[in-house]
Amino acid sequence: MLVMKFGGTSVGSVEAFAQVATIVADKMAEQTRTTTTRPGVAVVTSAMSGVTNMLIEAARRAAQGDEEFYQEIENSLRVKHQSVVGQFIDDGAERAALGRVFEQRLQEFSRLCSSITVLGELTNRGLDVVSGLGERLSAPLLAAVLRANGVPAEYVDATEIVVTDNVFGGAAPLLAETTERTLPRLLPMVEKGIVPVVTGFVGATVDGIPTTLGRGASDYTAAIIGAVLDADEIQIWTDVNGVMTADPRIVSNARSLNQLSYEEVAELAYYGAKVLHPQTVTPAVEKKIPIRVLNTFEPSHPGTRIVDRRDTPSSGTVKAITSIRGMNLVTVGGRGMIGVPGIAARTFSAVATMGANVLMISQSSSEQSICFVVPEASAPTVINALRAEFKTELERHYIDQIDGHADVAIIAVVGSGMRGTPGLAASIFQAVGSHSINVIAIAQGSSEANVSLVVEAARAADAVRAIHDIFELHKPTSERIKTA
Ligand code: ASP
Ligand code: MG
Repeated sequence: MLVMKFGGTSVGSVEAFAQVATIVADKMAEQTRTTTTRPGVAVVTSAMSGVTNMLIEAARRAAQGDEEFYQEIENSLRVKHQSVVGQFIDDGAERAALGRVFEQRLQEFSRLCSSITVLGELTNRGLDVVSGLGERLSAPLLAAVLRANGVPAEYVDATEIVVTDNVFGGAAPLLAETTERTLPRLLPMVEKGIVPVVTGFVGATVDGIPTTLGRGASDYTAAIIGAVLDADEIQIWTDVNGVMTADPRIVSNARSLNQLSYEEVAELAYYGAKVLHPQTVTPAVEKKIPIRVLNTFEPSHPGTRIVDRRDTPSSGTVKAITSIRGMNLVTVGGRGMIGVPGIAARTFSAVATMGANVLMISQSSSEQSICFVVPEASAPTVINALRAEFKTELERHYIDQIDGHADVAIIAVVGSGMRGTPGLAASIFQAVGSHSINVIAIAQGSSEANVSLVVEAARAADAVRAIHDIFELHKPTSERIKTA
């Protein structure tokens, strides 16, 4: 049994829908042809590309009193989805039924935006209802396109099966409840050879209030469904040939990776690689379900297989490099900090109170400073909170520095095989050093699958290229001279 997730660009145009229909039909045929003990396919889809952004923008503008914009968006959404209908759906009854679904959703959209205008305020809860409409338009459409192409398919709204907590904008699934609702709904369908087409990204609380799992989280939905159904593989169909050694826009000779471990891909996703939502591996890990990242527009490419570390060959140490910009390096420093317990705890609880996401922490062994990286947007509030927390220490000069270094980037060098490989840090430093790139801070994650550097954002691309070069990541593993 397969769970196949199609991203925004995979359902972004008439041509893309045609590709998806062929891919799903082929997989269905393959599943029945081969002697799989549990044949069947379940599909998870994103909104058509650009739609989620349009919905969010419309809701934001509505809150500022702009009623024209959401009306325009309503129209473009109708046209966008209807153009796919026009291309694929000949059956009159199907067309009419889809038309009714679209109109219902679009009416809901303009009603919501209209109340947001009246309230003059947009809550996260309200935003989740609006932003989740894109998947609730694309999924019934994809189900109809599949049927029109001879694949039995049925639309399933994830708000009925994915149960989450009530953290709007980034809800977490409640697995027991989700399993309880998903299994009886999806399994009989899949077993009968019907493809459920499930909305990605959205869920609902136990009380039925709509939520979303966070931007880009359709991947996560696929992994949740895959884990619940105990799928043989979770396939993430996107518009690139799997996970690459680096962003090809930065490194022109980056190559796609055959295999990665869950841990490695999680590190890459966390540090800005756009290919998978960072949470995606979580549901898959426990049941050891392989994830495969594939290209809708080049379906014969094997893509990247993501499996348990014990199942990946450990040859090669560094697998990939990613960078994340728009960061600020905050430092809390002073001689008075040496040996004083609790400074780190107080620092991070002050940061946590501000709700800031700490991406990297580094403390020098002399204990004279702690530095950590937060997104630029949260830096001012974090720094103010720290100055308030350590007011006394600052007055007494136990701490004499609390400030931020703006406009930095984190470069994450990722690979499970880096564990205990001597000389690796030296190679990284040699690479950046030979390009005169100053390393502002460095940290090694506890998993040892990642060494992170902080550099000036302006040098981030050079740093990625230099490290990519020194480890010869453009070559297949077997041809690399240098492994450390
Ligand atoms: N449509 C949602 C987004 O744009 C979820 C996804 O595409 O994965 O964030
Ligand atoms: Mg995505």
